[in-house]
Amino acid sequence: MTKQAEIQQIEVQNSNNIGSKKAEETHAAESHSEKQPTAIEASTEKAKDGKCWANLVAGNTFAARGMGLSFVAPVIQNGEKIVELQQDEIEKETEKWKMEVILYVVGDTPSIGAIERFIASQWNFVSRPKVYYHNDGFFVVNFRNVEERNEVLYSGSCTINNKPIITKAWTTDFDFNEEVLKTLPLWVKLPNLPLNCWGMDSLSRIGSGLGIPVYVDECTTKVERISYARILVEIDITKPLPTRILVKDLSGKQFEQPFTYDWKPMYCNNCLQLGHNCQVKQTQ
Ligand SMILES: [Zn+2]
Repeated sequence: MTKQAEIQQIEVQNSNNIGSKKAEETHAAESHSEKQPTAIEASTEKAKDGKCWANLVAGNTFAARGMGLSFVAPVIQNGEKIVELQQDEIEKETEKWKMEVILYVVGDTPSIGAIERFIASQWNFVSRPKVYYHNDGFFVVNFRNVEERNEVLYSGSCTINNKPIITKAWTTDFDFNEEVLKTLPLWVKLPNLPLNCWGMDSLSRIGSGLGIPVYVDECTTKVERISYARILVEIDITKPLPTRILVKDLSGKQFEQPFTYDWKPMYCNNCLQLGHNCQVKQTQ
C-alpha cells in the first residue's frame, strides 16, 4: 500500500467510526424522546463527513436535547471585542426569573430532596415549585407565578433541622456572596407603636430607619392585634442590629421606638460569614 493509499484508508475508517457512532447516538437520543429532530440533531448529519468539529461536539446525546445557537458578531472597540447585550432579549429572560426565590440554609447545605420535602410540608399553600441547586451552596426555587412567590416570601421565617432558612426574591443584580450573606430580610416587631403610626406610609418611614422595608404582615395591615406592628425589612447584618430608633412626632416631640427581631442572624466579621461569630465564642 502506498503512503497516499494508507492515509486514505485511515480517513475512510475514521469517517466510518464517526458515522456509526453518530448513528448510535442519534438512536439513543430518539429512544429517549419521540420528538422531531432538533436543529442540532439535523446538523449532526453533516458531521458524518468529518469536516466540522463544532458539529461533532454538538452531536452528543446531551447537547442533542438543547437548542441551536447562532453567531452574532461582537463589536470591536479600541481593538477589543465587546459583546453587547440587547434589552428585549434580557427583559424576556428577566421576566422568567421574577418568580424565583433564592433559598439558603444558614450553616447547612441540605440535599435537593430535603428542600423539596420541606417545601411540600411547609409551603403546601402554593403549587409545587421546581428546585435548583447552585454550587455556591444555595437553592433557586421556581414558582408558578409572582403571587405564589410572594405568598412564600411573606409567610414568615422557617427552619430546617433547626437551621434558619433565608428566602429572598431574585433580582437582576443578584450576587449570592454579596447579598445573601450581608443583607437579609428580617421580621421586625415594633412593640407599642402608637396606633396613628400604623399606616403604610409611616411604617415604611420607620422601616427605612432600619434598612429597606419590604412588607408588613397581615395582622398589622388589618390591625388584628395592637400590641406590636410587624414588618419585613432588608437589613445589613454585618453591623449590629439596631434595637431602637428616634421618631419625631407632629408636635416635634421625639420618642424612642424599640425593635425586636423574630430571629437574629449571627455574622462573623473575622471570617465574613453568616452563622457564627468567632468574637462571641472567644468571650464566652
Ligand atoms: Zn468566624
